[in-house]
Amino acid sequence: MKFKIAENLARLHQRIQQAEQRYQRPPGSVQLLAVSKTRPAQDVSVAAACGQRHFGENYVQEAVEKITSLAEHDLIWHFIGPIQSNKTRLIATHFHWVHSVERLKIAQRLSKQRPPHLPPLNICLQVNISNEPSKSGLSLSELPDTARQIAALPDLHLRGLMAIPQRSTRFELQRRPFLRLHQALQSLNQEDVELDTLSMGMSADIEAAIAEGGTIVRIGTDIFGPRD
Ligand SMILES: *Cc1c(COP(=O)(O)O)cnc(C)c1O
Repeated sequence: MKFKIAENLARLHQRIQQAEQRYQRPPGSVQLLAVSKTRPAQDVSVAAACGQRHFGENYVQEAVEKITSLAEHDLIWHFIGPIQSNKTRLIATHFHWVHSVERLKIAQRLSKQRPPHLPPLNICLQVNISNEPSKSGLSLSELPDTARQIAALPDLHLRGLMAIPQRSTRFELQRRPFLRLHQALQSLNQEDVELDTLSMGMSADIEAAIAEGGTIVRIGTDIFGPRD
């Protein structure tokens, strides 16, 4: 298992590097977020020993236990799952990033509950980029107003946008929603909200996301193996 995680991380770094080259992205401009939900702290510490620093979690209680037990590793924790309002305090206390903010009210709670001794919490707004009725995320039409209001909250640092587009196996189709997300980011940047992060791309569409300007790719299974 140990060997496998190291090998998987090395393979992913190579894949990211090749895509950066191919699509004229600066070397190192795409960060690998290792999604460790449902994995034991031991797996995270194996990945950390390989130099992996950014980890993504979906379940608050489970994550807080891991974050606490791995405190000496100095890792950077990203919350990427659906957010219930009764969990915002734990998220604001233990995480460095939240990718899945889709409501002003949740952002207000995170800002208010961010402990004063910590730097502002980094935030990405989740966008329902394929406009699927069943999917979470802000619509593109709601995005500008919500982004402006969230950018003004004192204890948050609005960094960018996140999306989980509809699956497609065709590269050219995979690129389209990522392009739309990038365009949404650019138009927010023209209205003096300063964003630098596009959290997009999972194992099947890393290359398409990098081609369209993604800065964080989120990978679980291809690092840690299939979940139960
Ligand atoms: C679980 C999850 C991932 C990683 O999924 P894998 O299929 O395990 O690579 C990425 N992003 C989000 C938002 C997730 O919930």
